[in-house]
Amino acid sequence: MKRRDFLKSSAFLGSLACIKPVLSANAFTNGDRKSVFSVCEMCSTRCPIEVSVKDNKGVFINGNPKFSANKTSVCARGGAGINQLYDKNRLIKPLIRVGKRGENKWREASWDEALNLVATKLNEIKEKHGAKSVIFTSKAGESHTHMSNFACAYGSPNIFSHYSSCPITYNMVLEHTYGGGLSRDFANAKYIVNFGHNLFEGIVISDAKKLAKFAASSDTKLLVLEPRFSVVAAKADEWLPIKPGTDVAFLMALIHVWLRDEKYDKDFVKEYCIGLDELKASVKDTSPKWQENITGISAKTIERIADEIYKAAPKVVIDWGHKTTTTHAEYQRTRAIAIANALMGNYEKKGGIHTSKNASNLNKIIGENIFPTLDNPSNVFKVPNTPRIDGAGEEGSKNYFVSRKHGVLMDIAPAILSEKPYPIKAWVNTRFNHLVNVANVNESLKAIEKLDFIVSIDVYLNDFSNLADVVLPESSYLERDESILGVGNGYYMRNKAVEVIGDTKSGFDIFKELASIMKIDELYTYKTIDEYRMQQAKGNVDLLANLKKDGVVTYKVPSLYLREPKIIKEFAKTYPQIKDKIDSNGELSSLISFKTPSKKIELFIEKVEKLFPAHGSLNMVDYDVFNGHEFCLTSGKTPIHTNAHTQNIPILNELMSESPVWINESKAKELGLKDGDIVYLENEFGKIQVKLMLTQGIRPDTLFIYHGFGRVTPALKNIHEVGANDSILLGSKSGHICSTMVTNIGVDIKRV
Ligand code: SF4
Repeated sequence: MKRRDFLKSSAFLGSLACIKPVLSANAFTNGDRKSVFSVCEMCSTRCPIEVSVKDNKGVFINGNPKFSANKTSVCARGGAGINQLYDKNRLIKPLIRVGKRGENKWREASWDEALNLVATKLNEIKEKHGAKSVIFTSKAGESHTHMSNFACAYGSPNIFSHYSSCPITYNMVLEHTYGGGLSRDFANAKYIVNFGHNLFEGIVISDAKKLAKFAASSDTKLLVLEPRFSVVAAKADEWLPIKPGTDVAFLMALIHVWLRDEKYDKDFVKEYCIGLDELKASVKDTSPKWQENITGISAKTIERIADEIYKAAPKVVIDWGHKTTTTHAEYQRTRAIAIANALMGNYEKKGGIHTSKNASNLNKIIGENIFPTLDNPSNVFKVPNTPRIDGAGEEGSKNYFVSRKHGVLMDIAPAILSEKPYPIKAWVNTRFNHLVNVANVNESLKAIEKLDFIVSIDVYLNDFSNLADVVLPESSYLERDESILGVGNGYYMRNKAVEVIGDTKSGFDIFKELASIMKIDELYTYKTIDEYRMQQAKGNVDLLANLKKDGVVTYKVPSLYLREPKIIKEFAKTYPQIKDKIDSNGELSSLISFKTPSKKIELFIEKVEKLFPAHGSLNMVDYDVFNGHEFCLTSGKTPIHTNAHTQNIPILNELMSESPVWINESKAKELGLKDGDIVYLENEFGKIQVKLMLTQGIRPDTLFIYHGFGRVTPALKNIHEVGANDSILLGSKSGHICSTMVTNIGVDIKRV
């Protein structure tokens, strides 16, 4: 379907979320206004920002103009950071539960009392049941680092981040196939294949800007495969409303055509890949005809697209997305994407995919330590070698390939309920709402009832915190200093913009103080965040001073792709040290290496095949997401909110205060349903009540909901019991090999 057919019918075309500040900075020049350069935390992207502060009040946020990738842009959520800072529903005092669990009855406490209570309880539990009986959860990032350090010092191996509910698949697949993470060159590509990676809704500003420019060009092609007419589909040159869960079949047919017709980069594959024979065997029968009934896309269309992509290669990006279809076969879908890119020979080509040219990589390429690199003071903390409840990283476990620092969230509730492999007694959580963001909410609620002690650290009294025994209020990101982070060609750092409101502390201070009260702080070589930062900077006072002043330090380096002779020649004018490394083809082939067991790009993965027979090659095991139900419920991000984090913030709540379920207009009429009807969505895991929104922009067999609503905690007054929590309908069984949370699920509609 061509995009112009849908331009008028899309309800969301107007909501493209990259916004420029509407007020100019001059509006705040009166009084003692100052700018603090910091880093946004309204989502995990961490854009550099400029915070305008007047009389210790944050008054305005725009992008940090010194950061050229974003300049002054922030998204709607980034601009609303001030609104979160002054949200009257924020937590500003430690709370100790006085009513029944979940009754929302609390008394305020001093930090001394609250931290001492937590220390005493954790010590008691450790003495009676061992440190492993306490689990620790957090979203990834700075909170996770400080929580993990504390958990390691305490002695528990049961540390979890949000990875398994979000980016675990593409991280694992890139590591298994290429030996590590890669970047996509959206700015210079000619053809992009997008499987529902909604960069205009799940925004990463720098990438969204590049993709917007790409989509607006007349000599590029954006192909979007997604069951829903999303904003990115609306900007596409071609939209294919593929049946949910079947991307893997489309990709296996595409690869079948390229191998059948010998239309792939044979020289590249010969030089840099292994496993071509096994790949050929796995797609021998996956012809375009074969996939027609699976995906709903005609064989003719696949043949045409295979040819188009081959002709545009190597300036092609087949985008693995962030968290797109998410089925039990997610690992294979993302593997097929990684393989498709390799076949097009786009590795280290302009407009393709490439390794990061960060400071340490550039130093290696040039052969000199030109750019400052960082130390990691947290490296001394090691996850204890005790078996985990989810078996992550352990031989014989289904989660063998999962990092022991991130774990599998969906395995927490079953382990607590079954007391296998051992009983869990307490849960320490920071900045994560397990009851909205993790599958099988009903099972998690039952598991929580079994626990002796729960601590939650957050900015809000969210659904999970509402069930805690002690709630510790964290300062918002505008009130705290944090560590140095890498950003493309440089570094950035979160700097405190205003003094704390009420009685809150940073996550760094909370865990550090707790470790000190419990006398488990021997490994902490730093007392303050400033000492931590100085250790990171290896004593580089100038780097730290510049990061405090400007929030970001970038170094100007010409772009570099290791297989682009002209670009390499230009680079050598600035860094002649690389001249000796240039080969007879003008490439830097000696610098191309893959950290896989074979040192090649693995089209077939022996180590996976050994442990999980048939999964070393491409397959479609367990791709079905309907499971006998009439509809598949899919979910995604809105540009107005970040997962379940921002719905209560007044200005964002005004922009989007509910999340109706999208249903195909014709299908709804066939079922006698109208726009605005209230119905139940139901399956074997639970039931939720939703409002319907009729649209032509979705397949008849698919429903869609924006995730993050349906909150039960009364403390979040703006969103209490508004909308529905789709995680209630998701099952605990995770995807094969990668253990990702499966977010496409079969449901039926029942009348209320
Ligand atoms: S994308 Fe938006 S919310 Fe996320 S860090 Fe950037 S400005 Fe903040």
